[in-house]
Amino acid sequence: MLRITGGRVYDPANGVDGVVKDLCIEDGRVVKNVESGRTINASGMMVFPGGVDVHTHVAGGALNFARGLVPENQRVARKFLHGGDRRSGIGGMTPTTFATGYLYAGMGWTTVNEAAVPVLSAKHTHEELHDTPIVDKSCLLLMANNEIVLDLLEAGDLERARHVVAWMISAAKVYGVKAVNPGGVAAWKWGKNASALHESFEGYSSLTPAKIVSGLAQIVDDLQLPHPLHLHCNNLGVPGNVATTIETMQLLEGRRAHLAHLQFHAYGGDSWTTMRSGAAAVAEAFNAHPNLTTDAGAVLFGDAVTITADGPWQHLLYQLTGRKWGNLDVENETGCGIVPYVYKDHNIVNAVQWAVGLELLLLIDDPWRVFLTTDHPNGGCFWRYPEIVQLLMDVDFRKEQIKKLPAAARERIVLADLDRQYSLYEIAIITSAGPARSLGLSRKGHLGAGADADVAIYPEQPDEGGFLFSYPRYVIKAGAVVVEEGDVTAVTEGREFIVQPGYDSGIADFIRPLFEQAYTMSFENYPVEIERLKRPEQITLRPAE
Ligand SMILES: [Zn+2]
Repeated sequence: MLRITGGRVYDPANGVDGVVKDLCIEDGRVVKNVESGRTINASGMMVFPGGVDVHTHVAGGALNFARGLVPENQRVARKFLHGGDRRSGIGGMTPTTFATGYLYAGMGWTTVNEAAVPVLSAKHTHEELHDTPIVDKSCLLLMANNEIVLDLLEAGDLERARHVVAWMISAAKVYGVKAVNPGGVAAWKWGKNASALHESFEGYSSLTPAKIVSGLAQIVDDLQLPHPLHLHCNNLGVPGNVATTIETMQLLEGRRAHLAHLQFHAYGGDSWTTMRSGAAAVAEAFNAHPNLTTDAGAVLFGDAVTITADGPWQHLLYQLTGRKWGNLDVENETGCGIVPYVYKDHNIVNAVQWAVGLELLLLIDDPWRVFLTTDHPNGGCFWRYPEIVQLLMDVDFRKEQIKKLPAAARERIVLADLDRQYSLYEIAIITSAGPARSLGLSRKGHLGAGADADVAIYPEQPDEGGFLFSYPRYVIKAGAVVVEEGDVTAVTEGREFIVQPGYDSGIADFIRPLFEQAYTMSFENYPVEIERLKRPEQITLRPAE
């Protein structure tokens, strides 16, 4: 039992805005009252629900490939030496599994959603996820370039496609469906891309990215998954992609969707020399589509590692930068590309990207629909989130940073005209309450009775030379105090959230021969065994509307 007393509580899901009140915890949940147990005096501190990361990359084959591609990280990154319950690990841009858990928890974030898993490597992803301590986890299945699904969508057989997707979700033991550059990754097998929403792409005669997007969004809704289709739109990173992004929003009218890392999809201009912010147009369209949520995918200057299933984009980035490049093709399912990258404040394109992420966060009206991410480690590392919070909360600080940008970049952005400042209440929404709601995790992102007791307690003033929210004084995960004075003091194991949508039991008979024909792995070895997930928790599907 635990009582947190005297702290200023920010709990937007329950309308609590900086009210000094006690918070009581028993058996891992928030309760109305406790009679005894430890008391934490949080006077002069702020009490937040634990952070929820709606889109990050922390586990699986692509991450391991990325870790191998930046061996220099082992010299420069923060080392986590083992001690107490802690195991050793390496921080940096692509932290190893144990360090990932310590870094997230050490910042007050307690739930993470790994955004890209192919079925074929889901076993690896789950092995790494249960090696990632403290935080609760979920992951999303890559479906927009899976050849079995695409063939069914091309044939117009949406019903069978739905059973296949449901079976794949069940086989991979995941939480939701991700679409990355629909059709583009399939076309990349022939060195092509899919950049026009209504044109067919290499390997297909009538299927288009638009049909994949609307088909998968419909399937996710029909399966009543708690989180909507999680979509990485076509033409990521490309100047002028604002047109594709807005067209995609129009396609999704009448269906739910989450648009991932919107910053990378909000560029105007028509070439690298004319590239400019398209954030105003994208935000205006987004504000008019209440069926959508999004995350920022904000960029911070400094080191990053770009990791995405969007293979054709990564090849282009490699050609533009001449940096190291890795490409993987995952049989009939998807691929991925990896390019280590440095965002530079004197580079005009990078300066525009930095501004666009912040502009979207400031121009999208409803904080319940836009969430804080960097698409870790693509736009910057998750452990730098407090820097973005500072930029959102302090307009003077923001304007000082804008002055450092090249003049040519300042002409291409609107950030200097925006005076909005986020309140602490709104920060609690975009870091916790909003993403939890979008994920459909009803016990996350709030501090009402019955909520999971995931709590972060921060000083009301930043530490000397640091940022507010960098070093929580206490972090409580599922009722256990895991961080004290900014240091991980106890290591617990998180859970993995999964869903089990229904499907026609005969669908395996449809899939099996396709396997024997096209896959290198036998069908029997394909599904992830439930025992592989050490602490799975099945989340209920949404009620039918
Ligand atoms: Zn991503």
